[in-house]
Amino acid sequence: MKLNEIKFTNPYLKLPAECHDRVDPTPLKRVFLIHANESVAEMLGIDKEELYTEEFIDFVNGAYRPEGSDTFAMCYAGHQFGFFVDRLGDGRAINIGTINGQHLQLKGAGLTKYSRSGDGRAVLRSSIREYLMSEAMHGLGIETTRALAIIGSGQQVIREDWENGAIVLRVSPSWVRFGTFEYFAHKKKFKELEALADYAIEESYPHLVGEENAYAHFFTEVMGKTARLMAEWQTVGFNHGVMNTDNMSIAGLTIDYGPYAFLDEYDAAYVCNHTDHHGRYSFGNQPTIGEWNLRALMAALSPLIRMEQMEKSMAHYWRIYRDRYLYLMTKKLGFDEVQEGDLDLVKHLLGTLQGLSVDYTLFFRTLSRYSGDRAAILKLGLYHQPMIDWLDDYDKRLEKNTSTREQRAEKMLKTNPKYVLKNYMFQEAIDAAHKHDFTVVDQLFRIAQDPYAEHPEFERWAGPTPSEFKNTKLSCSS
Ligand code: AMP
Ligand code: MG
Ligand code: MG
Repeated sequence: MKLNEIKFTNPYLKLPAECHDRVDPTPLKRVFLIHANESVAEMLGIDKEELYTEEFIDFVNGAYRPEGSDTFAMCYAGHQFGFFVDRLGDGRAINIGTINGQHLQLKGAGLTKYSRSGDGRAVLRSSIREYLMSEAMHGLGIETTRALAIIGSGQQVIREDWENGAIVLRVSPSWVRFGTFEYFAHKKKFKELEALADYAIEESYPHLVGEENAYAHFFTEVMGKTARLMAEWQTVGFNHGVMNTDNMSIAGLTIDYGPYAFLDEYDAAYVCNHTDHHGRYSFGNQPTIGEWNLRALMAALSPLIRMEQMEKSMAHYWRIYRDRYLYLMTKKLGFDEVQEGDLDLVKHLLGTLQGLSVDYTLFFRTLSRYSGDRAAILKLGLYHQPMIDWLDDYDKRLEKNTSTREQRAEKMLKTNPKYVLKNYMFQEAIDAAHKHDFTVVDQLFRIAQDPYAEHPEFERWAGPTPSEFKNTKLSCSS
């Protein structure tokens, strides 16, 4: 499909007027393409050649409007760091339309009714981070929003300093958040709340349409998806950083990439967001916050579903989380199946990694080639004895495994990424981009799409994080 053949639909606009506000994007000046995602283009049915045209830059800039484009911002509320804020909404993301079940939105495209004191813009550094990171999560097989393209501009916006504005064209099968429900529940707009629930079911849980007790099943599914997403994050070592309920997807996707980070050295207490003084959104606390956020959602859904009913669903949260986590962790360890005692082995490992300051990703990659010779693994940690103890247990457990060493290595190398996009790597891409050099963005993009491959040309990114960049924190201001 050519850009001029796109015919957008706007299913969200069929919801009551309270749910959205029509607004035109405000294009940035002096814009240029930084990167385009050909696999997302393919998913949308847009021809690859279209991505490298002037018209496409205008499209991402909100200046070129395909047929059916009827642009709007979505309204939502949310609990931010535990405190309810009754009106948030897309303050800088403008929805431009839907194709192939994917909703496109321009993040950084100017003011909306929900901008509050913000400027409706996004800066280059955070836009590069979101663009690359959503693709990296996708590459790791984790449910996430994605992005079609990123453009930069010569237009300056103010943060702590002057910076250049940018726009990411994000795509997702759903942009509905826990906070979207909280907004209507708090306003006592129950008709709208119901319409939103119907919409979310149709959008993300279509098999429930017309089912008896569809709302109760809907909550159960959101709960299960959230529990499993938390397990995925914990397994790859992803710290989201701002798990406010307005950043929680009703479809169980990873959304709204802010100060997130992958772990460098394993540390359950790691907090990537430097404004999170109490560590509410620390790495180790994420599954607990997932539960907390579901409880906020329960309260918002209570006009539609009995609390008692939702409590029954919630009683399964930790079991679903643990089952999924254990399944994924035993895969990382190369076991054919989960066996009794594996959870203890995993806990023992995490304690060991933390005590020895071992790079989380590098550990599993190294373990993937473990053949009984321990030198390469022992080298990763501060000292040897705790790891020796753990490897003794691991060796014993491997005896119960049926696959051969070669089979195990092959599977583990496809499960344990060689590369995750760490903050110091982003920094390199951002520094180069400020000089108008987008080659590092492209290199990280290629790693993001295929994190299990060797990529010999990028070997320098496969080692532990350089010590000056380890477990750093980032600001939310973006
Ligand atoms: P976040 O922490 O990025 O999820 O954003 C929280 C809320 O602040 C959302 O309603 C955003 O739309 C809004 N917001 C963040 N940055 C800006 C900005 N520069 N201009 C307008 N609204 C913003
Ligand atoms: Mg957000
Ligand atoms: Mg945001």
